Amino acid sequence: MNEQGDFVMPGDVIGVSEQYLPGAWTYEDDGYIKAAVIGNISINRHEIAIVPRTTTPLLLKVGDIIVGQITDIKGQRAMIDVQASIDSSRELALPYSGAIHISHVKKGYLEKLTDAFKIGDIIEGKVVKIMGDNIDINTEDPEHGVLKAMCSRCRGFMDPTDSKDTLYCESCNRKEKRKISLNYDY
Ligand SMILES: [Zn+2]
Repeated sequence: MNEQGDFVMPGDVIGVSEQYLPGAWTYEDDGYIKAAVIGNISINRHEIAIVPRTTTPLLLKVGDIIVGQITDIKGQRAMIDVQASIDSSRELALPYSGAIHISHVKKGYLEKLTDAFKIGDIIEGKVVKIMGDNIDINTEDPEHGVLKAMCSRCRGFMDPTDSKDTLYCESCNRKEKRKISLNYDY
């Protein structure tokens, strides 16, 4: 018969009334206990229940905070492969592509986008506009920007310095500029 953790669909027989008491997300039907929702079986002594599977994938909305990786720098825009929303463990509904325009990187003037981001950097930012699976991202807030960066010479992970826009590579002594998040991963 069914065991703890088994994946079931609505209407599946998960036990008999003689053996179990029907718990959450189950119902009795003619001596049988059935699953009311998609989920996994949870047995606790004489009670059998379903832990519903959260199947609704996440659609991003304006104001959400995302984490992604810089995949390209094209003129005035940095392109991002959006990997997750930090507010939810749910999987993203779409393979979102993000972009940060040079005017949305930080407060004040930024001469070159490559002084803020480089390909491979992991960044955190806020969703400011959504057009289907394309989103615009803003990293002006102090807690937004680069979370983790690799040295462009030796690919070692870089450490923060006393300067808020400079990272340092211990392996090869190189310094590089970034728009660094307060949450930078030391
Ligand atoms: Zn290096």
